[in-house]
Amino acid sequence: MADLNTLNDLFEDELRDVYDAEKQILKALPKIIKATSNDELRQALSSHLEETRGQVQRLEQAFESLDLKPKGKHCAGMEGILEEGSDLLEEDGDDAVLDAGFIAACQRVEHYEITAYGTLMAWAKLLGYRDAFNLLKANEQEEKAADAKLSKLAESSVNQEAMSAGQESDEDEEEEAAETTAPPKRRRSA
Ligand code: FE
Ligand code: ZN
Ligand code: FE
Repeated sequence: MADLNTLNDLFEDELRDVYDAEKQILKALPKIIKATSNDELRQALSSHLEETRGQVQRLEQAFESLDLKPKGKHCAGMEGILEEGSDLLEEDGDDAVLDAGFIAACQRVEHYEITAYGTLMAWAKLLGYRDAFNLLKANEQEEKAADAKLSKLAESSVNQEAMSAGQESDEDEEEEAAETTAPPKRRRSA
């Protein structure tokens, strides 16, 4: 890795990191979308996938505005966050419960992005990179909106569905147990 002697060096390094992070998301999100059951959630994630393609392009424009070739640098943070989300893909369970888990995983992604863009925007401002700043800000706004949409979805329906799903299956189990278990012989205590 090149030495980090100036804030500009650090800015370029972090820009490469977030560029790689967005590309990792492009690869991972379709699998998560496929695994979701809630229509609204699937729609929200699909439209954010579309936005993410635009974000990658904005980052390429940001590189170009600084006369840099767009180049990623492996983002280990995003790899870890996506790995956690992908673990859920292998789980069986109640649809709503899994959806609540997918929302949680995706919000971790959004928050990581929001903090990366916030830092980059602050540095771009200091460095006088006006075009890059505006491009980064556009991405940051989309991440914040995506995060808010996921919070709303979780709080308005998915979490509640996950709650009642648990209750239903408990009841089912109790009913099944009642049906299949022979009534215990009662013995009156003296
Ligand atoms: Fe993004
Ligand atoms: Zn990173
Ligand atoms: Fe995002």
